Amino acid sequence: MSQLLVIDHPLIAHKLSLMRSKDTPSGQFRTLLREISMLLGYEVLRNLPTELRDVETPVGMMRAPFLKGKKLVFVPILRAGSGLLDGLLDLVPSARVGHIGLYRDPNTLAAIEYYCKLPSDVGERLTILVDPMLATGHSAVAAVGRLKERGARDVRLVAILAAPEGVAELQRTHPDVRIFTAALDERLNEHGYIVPGLGDAGDRLYGTK
Ligand code: URA
Repeated sequence: MSQLLVIDHPLIAHKLSLMRSKDTPSGQFRTLLREISMLLGYEVLRNLPTELRDVETPVGMMRAPFLKGKKLVFVPILRAGSGLLDGLLDLVPSARVGHIGLYRDPNTLAAIEYYCKLPSDVGERLTILVDPMLATGHSAVAAVGRLKERGARDVRLVAILAAPEGVAELQRTHPDVRIFTAALDERLNEHGYIVPGLGDAGDRLYGTK
């Protein structure tokens, strides 16, 4: 079974196209990223277990489904992953949040960890790792490695854009991790950027450059 799920939906496609445009300002980019994270979150959490409980509506009694209380943790890879967090927390406000800070060595493109804070019971939680761009795959591979080291067993990745190279790398290293994305682009360029992509997600989110 393929571990890559490209979520094909006109709302997501439209919002992503707006994000790709170099003329879209940071404020709008942030809003769009938050909206897409909710739409992708809807899919990544599709199989959360529910249980029936009694509910009295104004008209009568019924057994109604509620989330069963499966433990969740959202883990943004800093810094750009933060742009996806609020949308996911809008969906599940009770989820815990962990953070993994990684930067790319500009020469080797290797992922270097500078921060990691996770709930102590991460092993009991469905772990949703979030990063807007799955490019070389180095950050995702390092982050999943760290999560597994801390006991995580069910890890899914949400990335709004993916490159074939990053998908292959993550699938090769962590074949159990399902990838949820809005689009699979053509390739990486020599600087490790996704082509056509949307540029540097962190810079576009925060207006740095
Ligand atoms: N990170 C980004 O922000 N953009 C890319 O295209 C690749 C990695």
